[in-house]
Amino acid sequence: MTVIKKICCIGAGYVGGPSCTVLAAKCPDVIITVVDISQPRIDAWNSDKLPIYEPGLDEMVKQQRGKNLFFSTDVDGTIRDADLIFVCVNTPTKMYGIGQGRAADLTYLEAAARRIAGISTAPKIVVEKSTVPVHAADSIARILHANAKEGVTFQILSNPEFLAEGTAINDLVNADRVLIGGQQSPAGHEAIEALASLYARWIPRERILTMNTWSSELSKLTANAFLAQRVSSINAISAVCEATGADVEEVARAIGTDTRIGSKFLKASIGFGGSCFQKDILNLVYLCESLNLPEVGEYWQQVVKMNDWQRERFTRKVIAQLFNTVQNKKIAILGFAFKKDTGDTRESAAIYISKYFLEESAQVAIYDPKVSEDQVVRDLSEPGLLSNVDKIKKGVTMYSSAYDAVKDAHAIIVCTEWDEFKTLDYQRIYEGMQKPAFIFDGRLILDHQKLRSIGFQVEVIGKRVPP
Ligand code: NAD
Repeated sequence: MTVIKKICCIGAGYVGGPSCTVLAAKCPDVIITVVDISQPRIDAWNSDKLPIYEPGLDEMVKQQRGKNLFFSTDVDGTIRDADLIFVCVNTPTKMYGIGQGRAADLTYLEAAARRIAGISTAPKIVVEKSTVPVHAADSIARILHANAKEGVTFQILSNPEFLAEGTAINDLVNADRVLIGGQQSPAGHEAIEALASLYARWIPRERILTMNTWSSELSKLTANAFLAQRVSSINAISAVCEATGADVEEVARAIGTDTRIGSKFLKASIGFGGSCFQKDILNLVYLCESLNLPEVGEYWQQVVKMNDWQRERFTRKVIAQLFNTVQNKKIAILGFAFKKDTGDTRESAAIYISKYFLEESAQVAIYDPKVSEDQVVRDLSEPGLLSNVDKIKKGVTMYSSAYDAVKDAHAIIVCTEWDEFKTLDYQRIYEGMQKPAFIFDGRLILDHQKLRSIGFQVEVIGKRVPP
């Protein structure tokens, strides 16, 4: 039986950092070192200001860091000493060449595999935690074995991560399930068992699902595709609600109480964001095309299309309400992160909505408790968005309080469901705004009746404005 004493995690991001922190807390006898090629990221993990915001993470890192949890840029030294290596590097959508805009860019994964092979002088278990196309483990195995030093062997496992940003610690501590895919051979089973026995320290055995590698890899893509599909499905229905007078929250409650459907992920909104849903669906679409299954690819592609359409539809509606022009009008965007309780803005709906307003020459005022101006400018100047950074800086103003952001605004758009937006003093806000004062609740979190009684013009996704 292989006993794991030292773990290296390659990639100190949203997955590597929190998952290794929880692992360190649950396995005090195991030394875990999270490595990254980014010195600033590692410096931040070793400081009081962690590079990511996640409820409960600061305290847990403080408890473990220096005991059995370390953050380092010594990638080679850490790989050499480890019995088991988690690969948690980024696998973004490929932005060039074959598969551009759909396939996963496996550059970082390949670089990590080559580094492991070049450095390792003893057998190791290599665990693919990054989200990857099916059969990526095969590519890793071929790179490792082709470059291995004499006598060094590797077992490759797939152990996809299911944490959601904003609830990562709880998701890791109370995981619905842990997936471990590996080779169906005695050595493969031994490696699976070595990893399973670590998780079994706190996850009940029946929730640790072991399977073949390809099922495990495909399950991660499928899980994200299903979750995103639910959001797109309810968003599609939200448009029908607005056209018919049905209320999307009532419809969601009605269908969600059917135990076959369930109530989670049925909240209509301006659409899903985050670094994973869109990327993983596109990855699945590309996989289907490569497997000569274009009909399956088209089916899943529609989920992304619906998401794009919902954002655009919402923005058109806002502009129409604002008398068809927002030129030089102050538009307050409340929330820029892709969801509450995270500072992550990757693929956030707010990026696209802000872009539309900047193109219409509006003055965009942004407040988000966890997002900086640099981040907003970087996001808006990503390829395919706005190329003129000076224009972005001229059109966007960041505020450190919601009250300052909305002062003198023509409209407020709620883009992120931060709890603090529910309890703002809307009477005070109304008094300081241009009239008529509009609120567009893109997350369905506010008390619309109360806002209307104050005097606001309120527009909500999936509900018709009462006469
Ligand atoms: P991230 O960009 O936050 O972190 C990845 C880190 O890997 C970066 O800090 C980068 O510098 C580092 N890195 C890249 N190549 C390296 C190398 N060769 N050596 C050392 N470090 C290297 O990404 P993330 O959000 O943590 O996601 C990582 C993977 O997990 C992705 O495949 C993603 O799809 C998947 N995933 C993400 C989430 C999520 O909520 N963010 C959830 C589940 C799965």
